[in-house]
Amino acid sequence: MEAVELYRKANKNTESARLLAEIAQKLQEKRAPPLMIKKIYVLAAFEIDSYKQRVFDASMTQITSGGNTADATAKTLNSLITTDINSSADKALSNPWKGAEAIHYYLLCQRQLYQKEYNRAMKTAIRLIEYEKELDTREVYSLIALASYYNKCYKECSKAFVKLERMPNTTKEVREKFESIALALFSRHSPVDAPQVKFPCPKKGCDAQVSEYDTNCQRCGSFYSACIASGQSIVVKEYYTCKTCKHKAMLKELDYLSLKHCPLCHAVVQPQTKS
Ligand SMILES: [Zn+2]
Ligand SMILES: [Zn+2]
Repeated sequence: MEAVELYRKANKNTESARLLAEIAQKLQEKRAPPLMIKKIYVLAAFEIDSYKQRVFDASMTQITSGGNTADATAKTLNSLITTDINSSADKALSNPWKGAEAIHYYLLCQRQLYQKEYNRAMKTAIRLIEYEKELDTREVYSLIALASYYNKCYKECSKAFVKLERMPNTTKEVREKFESIALALFSRHSPVDAPQVKFPCPKKGCDAQVSEYDTNCQRCGSFYSACIASGQSIVVKEYYTCKTCKHKAMLKELDYLSLKHCPLCHAVVQPQTKS
């Protein structure tokens, strides 16, 4: 941590970010408290964001042209900086928020389960599939199985069980345990999902109907951002974007939870920027 501080003081953001991400990964392997790990990942992401901003500002001051040209140049620059970072093989640098998001949704899903908000918990659990690399595949599908079971979506639940049973490196003993739980569950419930709310895909020109649990549209390929407050896909226009971490939350979820701080990075929610 001292080294991180030194790098920060020397404005070596990428170095400190890499170090922070490493620390977070090691803590994750040691099963340290997830909230602490999430905070370290958030710090790492802040370092990368401030690096991008600094490179961007420095380059912009050298550009003196006005109006649209400056805008266009700004866009090009931004994408160049991002490509530059992406070309480094380091995943902590190319997608700095991924680690923090993974643990954030993981904790959110557990909280929703404890609060018996099974519909929300299932949406958050399904979102976690995007974070299989950051978390543990078994943990992700166990949460999906649990949440969809309580949410009475037995088809989704049985799919999660199949995934768990067929995972590589599963011992015979563990597999048999999964099989016997599945047998007990599905002898009482046929593997059918409870009715799902459908909504039109928000993409212009796409007439697909998507389920409330979908994170993308099968027809047009649109990807729906997750709401950091609730874990569900954002398919409405009324959402808030955090000024600090740039993640989105649905306004009605912010109100529902009476959130005053960004659930991901803890920046203050600024009501005037709600749009
Ligand atoms: Zn669509
Ligand atoms: Zn934020």
